[in-house]
Amino acid sequence: MLTSENQTNLSNLFKPDQLQLSIVTPIYNEIESLPHLIAKINQIMEENNYIYELICIDDGSTDGTTELLKKLALETDNLKAIILRRNYGQTPAMSAGFQNAKGQIIISLDADLQNDPQDIPLLLEKLNEGYDLVSGWRKNRQDNTLTRLIPSKLANLLIGEVTGVKLHDYGCSLKAYRSELLADMNLYGELHRFLPALAFIEGGKIAEIPVSHHPRKFGQSKYGLSRTFRVLMDLLTIWFMKKFLTRPMHVFGSFGLISIILGVILGSYLTFLKFGLNKSIGDRPLLILVVILLITGVQLFSFGLLGELLMRTYHESQGRPIYRVRDIITRIK
Ligand code: UDP
Ligand code: MG
Repeated sequence: MLTSENQTNLSNLFKPDQLQLSIVTPIYNEIESLPHLIAKINQIMEENNYIYELICIDDGSTDGTTELLKKLALETDNLKAIILRRNYGQTPAMSAGFQNAKGQIIISLDADLQNDPQDIPLLLEKLNEGYDLVSGWRKNRQDNTLTRLIPSKLANLLIGEVTGVKLHDYGCSLKAYRSELLADMNLYGELHRFLPALAFIEGGKIAEIPVSHHPRKFGQSKYGLSRTFRVLMDLLTIWFMKKFLTRPMHVFGSFGLISIILGVILGSYLTFLKFGLNKSIGDRPLLILVVILLITGVQLFSFGLLGELLMRTYHESQGRPIYRVRDIITRIK
């Protein structure tokens, strides 16, 4: 077996004798794929001698997947089944998996066999180069219909522009993360596709590699066109978070300040006209502008202050520091 060689090459990645990998896969009505998936993952893991756990999250399946998964979990080493109460959606299911994962590296992939577990060693090699997140790129994507591919192309472009993280393919579930990075990120909505962007906000180093993609053999896709809109809404949230999360006052406050300063300058001019030159100013549009500028300015300024307070509560309530340390190096014992 080539395995031990592979493992020594990954020396930057794994601390010795600890759980190395947690594979996380969300499952909703995938009864036919499930046994193949588990067998395939176990095979790849064993070929490479990884110390791993496989976490399958049953997201409220109704086709018997739940029972099958429970049964398999009792018979299979390294398999942990998490059964959710109802169908929450792919992101919450993945989140449940991440929170239960104990490995040093966490891998996510779809349960429908469209992602290939064979790509896991490639993702790890890339991570080992010093990245915190490596994302798969379905270079030869096997989802046929145009209604899938066109919105996805557009969404990828838009997400790249807005988040500043340029990847080809955000929607690919096959990704590898260092666990400490994932611990810093909270998932909502359809946010799992924005994990690279969230990771970037948290200061993570991100890479992308081409991975294989297979057509769906069993069952059906759980999504249609409506997902595009939910993704767009989430994109707005991310944009907002990236811009305003740490310093709302910088954004709102500066506009407020500009507005107030303009108002004061123009207002002084009008005051001078009125009292210095004794002119009537009551019917001047400029007077209305001054009033609007002053009111808007004060509003924006207070909004910034409020935002600032909210953000502080947000960070403090979660015990989130405003920085992230990558490493501490010292000889102090
Ligand atoms: N999934 C889930 N909960 C849902 C919808 C989907 O856990 O409510 C899982 C599904 O079983 C699959 C993955 O998320 O493992 C991706 O779903 P799907 O293959 O339908 O998405 P597509 O590949 O068509 O984008
Ligand atoms: Mg799929």
